[in-house]
Amino acid sequence: MEEEKIDPGHRGIRDVLRVVGPIVAAIGLIFIIVGMVSFFSAFGSFGRGPSHFWCVFVGMPLLGVGILLTKFGYIGKVARYVAGEIAPVGKDTFNYMADGTKDGVKTVARAIGEGLGGGLGGAVAAPRQETKVRCHKCNTLVEEDAKFCSKCGSAVAKTKSCPQCSELNDPDAKFCDNCGHNFG
Ligand SMILES: [Zn+2]
Ligand SMILES: [Zn+2]
Repeated sequence: MEEEKIDPGHRGIRDVLRVVGPIVAAIGLIFIIVGMVSFFSAFGSFGRGPSHFWCVFVGMPLLGVGILLTKFGYIGKVARYVAGEIAPVGKDTFNYMADGTKDGVKTVARAIGEGLGGGLGGAVAAPRQETKVRCHKCNTLVEEDAKFCSKCGSAVAKTKSCPQCSELNDPDAKFCDNCGHNFG
């Protein structure tokens, strides 16, 4: 099947491992059982040590190696199965999380943007309106609360009150900014 296409040599080794692994594990298990039986039967006969207890020390590594070999024999299959089972779920989870995070980040970013826009807009725009104003004659930027231009000396404060609507206009204004009254 697809396993053959992927790597025939590897598959051969794996097949050997799948057979040798359990055999080695079984031999190890037999050694452990023989050793254990020898160990426990020694309790009945005092004076005589467990003659075959060493079998446990041979059997345990054998069993370990056998299990390891079996695992290697099946690990490709297991890994592929696990990968196949987990990958789509993982992808969905990631997308789901990414979507959630994206929306969350967007919302937070929008909130921050609005907060900054409102805060900075108010903080930056207000002083700009208050602090500087252009001289009508020479176009120099002068402090708004200054009565006269620092360069040409002409009056800059809006001091001309409209007789019709009482709007304050530039001192040299010909018409009212608000109602268009001709100052003439
Ligand atoms: Zn000026
Ligand atoms: Zn007016």
